[in-house]
Amino acid sequence: MIKKKLLIILLVIVSLIFLLFIIRLISPKEIDDVTPGIFCETKYLEKSDILWVIPDFDNTAISENASWCKHILSLNKTLGMHGIMHAYDEFLVDRNNEYLYRGIKIFEDCFGFRPEMFKPPQLKISDSNTKLIEGNNLKLKMNFNQLVHKVYHCNDEPEFVKNKVIDWV
Ligand SMILES: [Zn+2]
Repeated sequence: MIKKKLLIILLVIVSLIFLLFIIRLISPKEIDDVTPGIFCETKYLEKSDILWVIPDFDNTAISENASWCKHILSLNKTLGMHGIMHAYDEFLVDRNNEYLYRGIKIFEDCFGFRPEMFKPPQLKISDSNTKLIEGNNLKLKMNFNQLVHKVYHCNDEPEFVKNKVIDWV
């Protein structure tokens, strides 16, 4: 009897993994860390459906780079905001409206519209920052999103990307 139970449990686990694989295969692909200061191969940008943009990486506002903004817009993708500066634990430190607005403004100056989605760097965010994001009508994307979507990073080594079975099918 115990053997049979174990077999059923194993079967359920295998089915769930398979289901997750299928969901990831058909759900929109995403790429994180899109910003002029981080090298990103165009073919990976083109393969992704959602681009997660860092507005002020390395103290360089994306809005200052008009040709980059134009290029990203020309790809015709869904764009979300990925942190403001992408500093380590950026949204574990409590931030205020002023901090958030600066990022929104840079994003808006670059692309001509306000971001509607937000994903914190390293998927780390404090409770008070969660309220700040949601209070400003930004949809917060967290772990569940990361699980059901294939997510890539701009600075991934191409060889490494090639070898990942689940990625870039
Ligand atoms: Zn990131």
